[in-house]
Parts: sequence; structure tokens; C-alpha cells
Amino acid sequence: MSKTAGIALVTGGSRGIGRGIAIELARAGLNVAISYASNDAAAKSARQEMESFGRGAIAIKADIASAADRQRLIVEVSSALGSIDVLVNNAGIAPSKRADLLEASEESFDQLINVNLKGPYFLTQLVARRMIDQKSAGKIINITSVSAYAASTNRGDYCISKAGLSMMTKLYATRLAPHGINVYEIRPGVIETDMTEKVKEKYDNLIFENDLTPIKRWGTPLDVARAVVACAKGSLPFSTGQVIDVDGGFHLRRL
Ligand code: NAP
Repeated sequence: MSKTAGIALVTGGSRGIGRGIAIELARAGLNVAISYASNDAAAKSARQEMESFGRGAIAIKADIASAADRQRLIVEVSSALGSIDVLVNNAGIAPSKRADLLEASEESFDQLINVNLKGPYFLTQLVARRMIDQKSAGKIINITSVSAYAASTNRGDYCISKAGLSMMTKLYATRLAPHGINVYEIRPGVIETDMTEKVKEKYDNLIFENDLTPIKRWGTPLDVARAVVACAKGSLPFSTGQVIDVDGGFHLRRL
């Protein structure tokens, strides 16, 4: 793969999908900043792995749901590495307890919306303003989920947060195209990470016994990262607002 210069910020880059994305961007030649919520050890090991490619790498603890943290994150990335060319809105959470629509709490709803939707919405606003000022042909890549369109009645808050992030992609793609900034939505299916560890047995059963996906395996962070690298490198210059399914074919209607 050809080396790509530039600076990327991957939110939630300490573990799982975000870590896979950060590593592949570093391998592709970008300087990469990751943000994370609390797991210092995971962030340190992700940073060390990125450094092994000989590029600049930093890890910053910053709660994506906090306006003050988002502001500080951007300032710290810019002063350590320079202006951001690629923003990957990856940080996200599942509900701490799956609850039926008729029982689910407002507290869980507020938390999911704040982390999964409001955080990336306003982080993108901050980064986009800077990209415009710097006349950078930046890329913004949002990690949504098949839950943006597949209804799971035991985690309505998660589904709504991802559907919102999907609309956010369309909005920013439209608003930023005149500035040469392309915006993409990567829509992962079932990916093996800490997030899905608690429901591993359920998805093993759905994938291997119940024909959930035409491609019968779990997805990996690398599967998602490859799609992100293609967008980040500018391999899709005439596409914006595009949804890229990385889901083993889950989205196909079958008969
Ligand atoms: P994960 O393994 O649980 O990792 C989550 C990452 O986000 C960690 O780096 C975590 O930091 C960070 N994070 C969590 N809350 C944060 C906050 N408030 N502020 C900043 N960072 C925060 O999750 P994953 O499975 O990789 O999921 C990554 C993204 O892909 C999420 O948006 C998720 O919804 C989406 N997705 C996942 C799947 C799947 O099957 N796994 C499928 C579709 C979409 P710490 O390490 O400090 O906790």
C-alpha cells in the first residue's frame, strides 16, 4: 500500500474497532491520535503499536460526551501533531443493560445519545470548521452500525443513536462538499470486540446455525479498518455521504 501523509484522529481508538482503524491508518503512513474514555493501559498499548510504524502517535483521554473534553482534544491533537486531515467518529457504547422498549430508562437513552450521537455531531462541527479554515480536503468517517436500520426492540436507544449518526453523515456530506471535504458512513455488522463479548453465544448461534449473514463468520476490526483506510486515502473522490456496509452481507434481502 502506498504511504499516505496526514494526521488522523480516531475516537475510541484504544480498543476494538477503533484500535484496528488506528493501527491500519498508522500502517498506511498517517500520524494518528486516538482518544479514549478511561482504559489507560489499552490506550498506551495502542499508542505503542502505532509508534512501531515510525509515525507520530498520541493517546488522549477525553470523554466524547463532554463539550470541554472535545474542545481540549482538538487543541491537544493540533499542538502535538498538527491540523487534522481525517476524523474517524468511532467511539461508541452499547446500553449497559439491554432493556425492552416498554421498560427502558431515560438515563440509558440520554447516555447513548450523548456518547454515540451528540458527541460526534459536535466534534465534527469543531473539526470541520478547522478543515475549512485550513482549506484542507479532509475526510470525515462515521462508524455507525446495522442498528441504524435493523430494529432491535431490546436496545432502542442504541438503534436511534446510530440512525441519527447515519443522518449526520448525510447532513455533513451535503454541507461540506463545497469545501472539498468528503464524509462517509461505514456500517459494520457483527464484529468481534469487547462490546460483543457479552453476547458472543447469541451471535455464534445466529451466524453459524441460523444463516444471519451470507458470509458465515464474525467480522473483525481489520475488516472495518480496511474500508476506513480506503476512504481516508481518498480512494473514493467522487463519493460522499456514501454508506459502506462491512457486514458479511447482512443487509441483503434474501428469499
Ligand atoms: P469497544 O470494544 O467497547 O471499544 C469502545 C471504544 O470507545 C474504546 O476505545 C473506549 O475507550 C471508547 N469509548 C467509550 N466511551 C467513550 C467516551 N464516552 N468517550 C470517548 N471514548 C469512549 O467497542 P467496539 O465494538 O470497538 O465499537 C466501536 C464502534 O463501532 C462503536 O461506535 C460501536 O457502536 C460500533 N459498532 C460495533 C459493532 C460490533 O459488533 N462490535 C458493530 C457495529 C458498530 P476505553 O477503552 O477507555 O473504554
